[in-house]
Amino acid sequence: MKYRKMPKSNDKLSILGFGCMRLATDSEGNIDEEQSFAMLHEAYQSGVNYFDTAWTYHNNESEPFLGRFLSQINREKVFVATKLPCWLVNTREDMDDFLQKQLAHLQTNYIDYYLLHGLNKDTWKKMKELGALEFLEKAKNEGKIRHTGFSFHDDYRTFSEITRAWDWDFTQIMLNYLDTNYQAGMRGLRLAASRNMGIISMEPLRGGKLVKQIPKEVEEVWQKANNNESPLRRALKWVWNLPECTVLLSGMSSLDQVRENIQEAKKAKPNVLSEKELRTYQRARKAYLSRIPYLCSECRYCMPCPQGVAIPSVLGRYAEAMMFGNYETNKKEYHFFIPEGKRAEDCIQCGICKTKCPQHIDIPKWMETITDHYNNC
Ligand code: SF4
Ligand code: SF4
Repeated sequence: MKYRKMPKSNDKLSILGFGCMRLATDSEGNIDEEQSFAMLHEAYQSGVNYFDTAWTYHNNESEPFLGRFLSQINREKVFVATKLPCWLVNTREDMDDFLQKQLAHLQTNYIDYYLLHGLNKDTWKKMKELGALEFLEKAKNEGKIRHTGFSFHDDYRTFSEITRAWDWDFTQIMLNYLDTNYQAGMRGLRLAASRNMGIISMEPLRGGKLVKQIPKEVEEVWQKANNNESPLRRALKWVWNLPECTVLLSGMSSLDQVRENIQEAKKAKPNVLSEKELRTYQRARKAYLSRIPYLCSECRYCMPCPQGVAIPSVLGRYAEAMMFGNYETNKKEYHFFIPEGKRAEDCIQCGICKTKCPQHIDIPKWMETITDHYNNC
């Protein structure tokens, strides 16, 4: 295993981190403990020392499961990360309460890397108002948490505001060769690095989409460049090529995936991709993006829709279907992530949103197209 130093703490973290959000499951969707223990032990024996979980993963069962694993190994040899579920927090006391329960779940006296989970504009405002920074400071002083950070899902402007608001030790952001301009993106990576923060990258495979059902025009880009590497290697190599990235988190679901990821980690190095190779990645990115018929920047100027349609999310889900061609999974995700009453079918064609969109997207027209798509695919 290879290791990189967390800038402020100098902890030597394995470049491959184990994300405990997609563990092996049984036919009812519960964690398959036998298989999942085997996966965690394989990773641990191979030198993986960063284990990431969260209150809500696997219906709140991931933390207790990881706690049982920690009781089987030398706890001192690994770094444990978990997160405060900000959307479930309503008072300052809730924060202490969650942390106490998380320590109990994880069977430990301290959490090495503690994050505010999934910050966006709204949750950040709420966390600030409820005193989350004071909570983190106090928990750190009491030795219950060692390093503080936040995971993030919103635009760069919000990322910049949060990053500059406090002396964070690290951040966890979505990083893969497709999403260089999405959410925090490469600008976020550079900003965090300039503030000496560690960077934990998540979604290196975009939820597996960068390794499955590669569209023909994307595959042609790789073939033209005589790049015969596996899609997995291409995707992971791109993230590890970034010297600013401390840990690449992978949500592994089988022993085979653990072994494949470990093999890739052994070969990983920063700054190995040549200019020519990076241009090929750019062409592959463009080939993916060329499959989307509009360019929604998720600026949200079109919101709120008087009918409650979640316009950017609807456009985003449909764009994913176009980009990856994964219609069946995408349809499930669309219905899972976008509740009834907020979908394209709820649009009444009033046209208000269309006048506000700086990208000139004909939103009402697309709501019709998207409704047809999800009704018929
Ligand atoms: S205003 Fe346009 S670009 Fe911005 S989120 Fe809405 S649809 Fe997307
Ligand atoms: S056109 Fe549709 S999506 Fe746009 S504001 Fe009106 S109801 Fe909402």
